[in-house]
Amino acid sequence: MRITRRKVLRGAAGFGATVVFGRAWAATEMDLGDLRITTLSDGHLQLPESFLIGDLPQDEARAILDAAGVAAGGYEPPCNVTLLRSGEDVVLFDAGAGSTFMQSTGRLPEALAALDLSPDDITHVVFTHGHPDHLWGAIDDFDEPLFVNARHLIGRIERDYWVDPETPETIGAERQSFAAGAARRIELLADRLETFEDGDEVLPGVVARASFGHTPGHMSFEIGGGQALVAGDAIGNAHLAFARPEWPMPADQDPEKAARTRLALLQDLAERGVPLIGFHLPAGGMGSVKKNGDGYAFVPGR
Ligand SMILES: [Zn+2]
Repeated sequence: MRITRRKVLRGAAGFGATVVFGRAWAATEMDLGDLRITTLSDGHLQLPESFLIGDLPQDEARAILDAAGVAAGGYEPPCNVTLLRSGEDVVLFDAGAGSTFMQSTGRLPEALAALDLSPDDITHVVFTHGHPDHLWGAIDDFDEPLFVNARHLIGRIERDYWVDPETPETIGAERQSFAAGAARRIELLADRLETFEDGDEVLPGVVARASFGHTPGHMSFEIGGGQALVAGDAIGNAHLAFARPEWPMPADQDPEKAARTRLALLQDLAERGVPLIGFHLPAGGMGSVKKNGDGYAFVPGR
């Protein structure tokens, strides 16, 4: 694995007419043989600090966040959509948030334009899970699928969870809008949405790996015969999740299960020396996992 460059693309002639001039887009790239992985920014989330710390030990959590340079108050994690180009395939892992979730998200179409790509060029959209920042961008402002030429793929357990009429009742008040929003978008995708199972090779060189807990059917993806892992939100931040992976994080719908998943993934990635791409990790989300005391550390870049 070789991370070839981190480059900043500016809207200019040659990058497509839809680019807003003067706006810069960061794209981070990794080449794996014939595969090229690029992460594209969909913007960032704007969340209260309680989303990060919740009922965790306040002093220890705050100390980890201070060491990581995360200021007290609000929390603004980046959103990295992974683009995989392999032969004729132009694959997105997750679709971003679209225009209706937060003002600070929904930038994916502009980020694609900076690479001279349009939504029409996407051949596959593979979802890690059904949360708004990952799924909602698949539907445009006219309630039509944005990626009109793409096959859309989601884990069967994840799809079943969001279309279950009981989910709005069981998900908890703070995520009720997630349930309604996911069900509606899955309905709008209709027959375009296919499902897969844990262990399936969903595309050549892309194998689904169950990473349940953040959501009931969350999936990560081994790329290029295990040369990299698209982790989604199974490892949701670069500080608490690495330093104290066993902690039950408030961002996860099943915090205990998510902690077991996270520990197993971190141990595996550190042992194998395999890079990961995290949706909410810094530096375009690409990096590697190093053992660090009782926990782990995220090493951006490689
Ligand atoms: Zn997310």
